[in-house]
Amino acid sequence: NALELVQEAATLLESLAEEKQQNVVVEGNPSITLWGDRLILRQAVINLLDNAVKYSPVGGSIRVDVCFDVDTVAIEIQDSGPGISVEHREKVFERFYRVDEARTRAEGGTGLGLSIVKWAVLVNAGSIDLVSEPGEGCTFTIRIPASKTHTLPHKSS
Ligand code: ATP
Ligand code: MG
Repeated sequence: NALELVQEAATLLESLAEEKQQNVVVEGNPSITLWGDRLILRQAVINLLDNAVKYSPVGGSIRVDVCFDVDTVAIEIQDSGPGISVEHREKVFERFYRVDEARTRAEGGTGLGLSIVKWAVLVNAGSIDLVSEPGEGCTFTIRIPASKTHTLPHKSS
């Protein structure tokens, strides 16, 4: 279940977000079944949320939305960080690439997180998009094959 997977990832990042007094909101359609490796895809969402928390300021807010779109689930992670300017937009998915050494060194990390996300969605027949207005935060959207969860009809007798 896609929404549950996202909620699990958010729970793992909860204490990190609390330390920065950030508000993390997860919402969306509870009736979507992902087609793909659950643990790998959960790790992808964890990596995206880790970045959202890490690069958003103290008191910032993070929103995650899960919705069904034809035959995919779109998981959208929106943060309130500095955003990623257009010249870096493709490169951030490369291994070890970090936008600003001075800024990111203080944060720690290896520069592998997004390359793992990209690999994780590709091996599950999905895709990833990044939309960002510098100064306005980032929105990462991953799309993975999915179907609407069927609920069994209740028998009345
Ligand atoms: P790691 O994830 O391995 O701990 P990292 O976060 O530096 O290290 P990636 O997750 O691959 O590495 O991200 C690559 C770079 O893209 C980051 O160093 C940062 O400069 C930029 N970046 C990633 N996510 C965001 C974001 N949500 N807001 C602003 N910049 C980001
Ligand atoms: Mg990262």
